[in-house]
Amino acid sequence: MKVVIVGGGVIGLLSALVLAQAGCQVTILEKNAGAIESSWAGGGIVSPMYPWRYPPAVTALAQLAQAEYPLLAQQLFAMTGINIELNACGMLMLEAEDQRDALVWGQQYQQQLLPLSAKDISQLSPLLANFKTGIWVPHIANVRNPLLLSALMQAVTQLGVCYRNHTNIVSWHKINNRIAAIESSTGEKYTADAFVITAGAWTGQILNLLAINMPVNPMKGQMILYKLPEQKLKQIVLHQGHYLIPRQDGHLLCGSTLENTGFEKQTTDEALALLQKTANRIMPLLSQYQPIKQWAGLRPASPNGIPYIGRVPQFSNLWVNAGHFRNGLVLAPASAKLLADLMLCRTPCVNPEPYQII
Ligand SMILES: Cc1cc2nc3c(=O)[nH]c(=O)nc-3n(C[C@H](O)[C@H](O)[C@H](O)COP(=O)(O)OP(=O)(O)OC[C@H]3O[C@@H](n4cnc5c(N)ncnc54)[C@H](O)[C@@H]3O)c2cc1C
Repeated sequence: MKVVIVGGGVIGLLSALVLAQAGCQVTILEKNAGAIESSWAGGGIVSPMYPWRYPPAVTALAQLAQAEYPLLAQQLFAMTGINIELNACGMLMLEAEDQRDALVWGQQYQQQLLPLSAKDISQLSPLLANFKTGIWVPHIANVRNPLLLSALMQAVTQLGVCYRNHTNIVSWHKINNRIAAIESSTGEKYTADAFVITAGAWTGQILNLLAINMPVNPMKGQMILYKLPEQKLKQIVLHQGHYLIPRQDGHLLCGSTLENTGFEKQTTDEALALLQKTANRIMPLLSQYQPIKQWAGLRPASPNGIPYIGRVPQFSNLWVNAGHFRNGLVLAPASAKLLADLMLCRTPCVNPEPYQII
């Protein structure tokens, strides 16, 4: 089967990987010079933050994806030699007001969530400020998402996938209920047996061209980066919706903002000040350092954060895998698998109903 995928972020790349491994002939069309949008900008935590606050549809994909990540990391390393730095460093969630709900959720889903006292917290992570309560989730990992993207790019290329940069899809050609071709802003037409939209925050815009309304909207997130001489913090730390993510080489991320400002993605001084204040509040040592970088990305926000995965009912050969909001890196391996299962008429890896496009 010949498949054209529109959008070359983590969702497009992983969808291509799974489809190419199943024998499909895949082309990815990407409007930029590579995967430099949300998938690059993200923090790389591969669990939802406050996982108990998400609907079961997100948990189902997240659990499947968490089990897949170590295999994916090994597979990518074997194929490309790139270590995506999957680091199961654990996540410390501080002073969550709904700690009780968290513990109930942990029991329900057999996830290890351990309540901590102030003393436990300072023993686990001595450089943090004083916090009264916390929850420790030991198995949670993060990946270095730019490395994941580079590895995926090389892996799909090895499998014969064609990744075309600077190809902005602006129109559709349809015959009855089939998509016959899509067209780029420079007039090139692409035909295929099946088309998949993985265009992140731009998915709603692209489908609008077919008079299809899908509520996936951009939600800006800003992030700052520190470089410490060595790794001082061992765990991911979450407090009042903001987080610190340590990398093994001393880099440390602090994120993020949640801004409903359309498709603009300028960084702002206000966000810089907020994130610096947050970083210093969580780990006072950081007040001795200045951030070395600040950036912004556009999350593909869908209602309740449940992605759309499936066929667009109005067309027999148009598919979507988009709207992963804050959890695109978390969910990508499972969401690509579900898409491929549906496209190739295999038994779906999870119940597909909650992700259906109506
Ligand atoms: C600050 C921040 C922190 C985050 N932290 C995390 C985290 O820790 N963990 C996590 O799981 N998620 C996180 N996320 C969310 C995560 O990054 C997204 O959910 C995920 O990257 C979405 O992947 P995607 O491939 O759908 O979108 P994108 O990476 O945005 O890819 C979509 C691609 O489609 C292309 N495209 C759009 N329109 C067209 C067109 N017309 N023609 C051709 N190509 C087109 C775009 O150029 C883009 O490359 C974070 C996001 C931000 C911004």
